[in-house]
Amino acid sequence: MRKPMIAGNWKMHLNSAEAAKLAAAIKNGLDPNLKHDVLLAPSFTNLEVVRKETASSPILLSAQNMCWEEKGAFTGEVSGSQLKDAGCDYVIIGHSERRKIFLESDEVLNKKLKAAFKFSLKAIFCIGETLEERENNQTYEILQNQLQKGLKDISAQDVENIVIAYEPVWAIGTGKTATPQQAQESHIFIRKELSKMFGEGEASKIRILYGGSVKAENIDELMSQPDIDGALVGGESLKAEKFLRVIHYQSAVNNEKIQ
Ligand code: PEP
Repeated sequence: MRKPMIAGNWKMHLNSAEAAKLAAAIKNGLDPNLKHDVLLAPSFTNLEVVRKETASSPILLSAQNMCWEEKGAFTGEVSGSQLKDAGCDYVIIGHSERRKIFLESDEVLNKKLKAAFKFSLKAIFCIGETLEERENNQTYEILQNQLQKGLKDISAQDVENIVIAYEPVWAIGTGKTATPQQAQESHIFIRKELSKMFGEGEASKIRILYGGSVKAENIDELMSQPDIDGALVGGESLKAEKFLRVIHYQSAVNNEKIQ
C-alpha cells in the first residue's frame, strides 16, 4: 500500500524567524497518531531553522531544487551532497516554475534526479501540462514525454525513491483546481506509463501527489480518489491552520490505504 504524503512548498517566501514559527506551529498541530508523511520544503536559507524546529518530529525536510554537479565552479548553485549535509530527506525536481522561468529542460532534470539519488536524497519529481496543451488535447502526450525523458535510465531501485507530483501548470497558484476526476484520470495515465517503464509491481508502489491550488476546502475530495496519494501544496502551506487541515484530510479511501 502507498503511504500518503502531504508536502508544503514554501517557494521563495518567509524569513528565518517566520519559517521557524510556521514550522513550529505545524509540528505542534500534528496529530500524534498521523500515519502518513508530512514534508516541508523551505528556501535553502531556511533549511537549518526548519530542521531544528522539526528535529523531534516525523516531519520530512526537502529542498526545492539542486544542482546536478557535486561541487566546483557553479556559482549560486547548491549540490545534493550539501543538501544531505543540511539534513534534507527530499528535493523537489522539475517544479513548473523551474521549467518555465529558469528554462530547465527534461535532460537537465534527469541529471538532477540521478544526482539526488547519488547523495541518498529522495525526490519529488513534478510534471504537468499547460492550459494551452490541455486545450489542444496534448495532456497525455506531455506527461508521457516528461516521464520518459525525466526518468530516462533511472533504475527500478532508484525509482522507489521518487514521488511524482502531477501539477497541471494552469492550476498552480491560480485558484483553479483540477477536478478530482481530472486529477484521477491523469494519475491513472501516469501510473500506466510508469508500469510500462518499470513494471506494474514498481509502478503500484510509486506515490503520485496532486498539486495545484490545493486548499483546506478541496483536499478531502481530492484524497478520496484512489490514485491520488497525497498533495504538493504551495500557497495554503504558508498558513498553519489551513495547512494543518490539509494534512489532517478526511478520506475513507486514503485512510484505508494506511491501516
Ligand atoms: C506548488 O507550488 O507546487 C503549488 C501547487 O502551488 P499552489 O498550491 O499555490 O497552487
